[in-house]
Amino acid sequence: METKSDEQAAPEKTIFNAIAQGDLDEFNNILSHHKGSVDLFDENGMTALQHAAYKGNKEMVQLLLDRGADVNSGKHEYNYTALHFGALSGNSDVCRLLLNAGAKPTATNSVGRTASQMAAFVGNHHTVATINNFVPLSEISYYSVPRGQQTEPYLPPVLVEPLHKFVLGVNIHPVRLALNIQHTPVLLENADKASKVLEMLCKREMTRGSDTNEVMAFKYHYLSYVLKEIHNIRDKQKSNTDKEEKKHDPIEIFAKKLLKPGKDGVSLDLMDSFLKDCVREFPYRECTTFHQMVTALTSKDPPPALSVINCTINGQRGFVDAIPYCSTCGEEKPAKKCSKCKMVQYCDRECQRLHWFVHKKACNREPAPPMTTPNNAKANIDASELTSQLQNLVTG
Ligand SMILES: [Zn+2]
Ligand SMILES: [Zn+2]
Repeated sequence: METKSDEQAAPEKTIFNAIAQGDLDEFNNILSHHKGSVDLFDENGMTALQHAAYKGNKEMVQLLLDRGADVNSGKHEYNYTALHFGALSGNSDVCRLLLNAGAKPTATNSVGRTASQMAAFVGNHHTVATINNFVPLSEISYYSVPRGQQTEPYLPPVLVEPLHKFVLGVNIHPVRLALNIQHTPVLLENADKASKVLEMLCKREMTRGSDTNEVMAFKYHYLSYVLKEIHNIRDKQKSNTDKEEKKHDPIEIFAKKLLKPGKDGVSLDLMDSFLKDCVREFPYRECTTFHQMVTALTSKDPPPALSVINCTINGQRGFVDAIPYCSTCGEEKPAKKCSKCKMVQYCDRECQRLHWFVHKKACNREPAPPMTTPNNAKANIDASELTSQLQNLVTG
């Protein structure tokens, strides 16, 4: 290691050192003294932004973007973009920053792979889902401006950001969505308006011709369906103005209905039928995505509708074996365990509390097998070629 940067070098050289060492102070210092474009190239044709993305350094990526770094610039010999590097780093926040700045998710490298495919190849599943679920803010804000004869827009401007965040969410478990809505009162209060705008987004997506993204269209429909259901429950509860607040909380009612086990005490029959109804009401029955879901749901031994929908929206998992999930909302790698039996996991007290009416029957009984997910999907890309390319991706 002879790369101590005490030598007085050009900003090109020192900035790459600062990125490599994760030295944010030094990085800031160099940027503050540097005038002009921050699209600086190293000897391999990689930009500073690409290096910061590859390091998964959110702060540096943000600073470079603030200084006007070109998110689609680069002369890397394998045609990797900043988003490819961000995808390889596995930092979903970095990828979201790049996408918000206009990174093209469809750009391919020299072996024809997109950033999301590269993330899948190295097992960064959250990043895959983040990229595949991305929608520019302008798609949502389009509806916050009155058009034609309108005196009021479909979407109150205050809803643009919360709805955008809601759409970008990767965990599509209906209880997670409900909890997210609960934490965003403005979305809960305007659930009907948000639901209608999501249906419009769905329609708009399906009428883009060759640019149509059926999966995204289905996701809009799905989110709209959940919001509509919560709005309906809320409407019914409005007349109930009595003291037992929790009992009449629409999110509470929605979540407990979906989490209630069926006759066998395990399978979530009500959730399954709610989600099947949602698929059934998708208005575009000619499309491939709809056919694939129906084929899966009507097969001989059908998987739960939740996993069919999750596979549709977030794609198959590649290499991951057993990831723990929150028993209430499906969030990956939850922080807490049931302190009594240690057999089930939760994000937090709220998730545990919501699930207790189910779990109390199983808690402290004989130990159940740990929760696992089947390792069912194989990566269908040529592993050897990619592996060798990854090895010499960043020289030095
Ligand atoms: Zn949870
Ligand atoms: Zn327990």
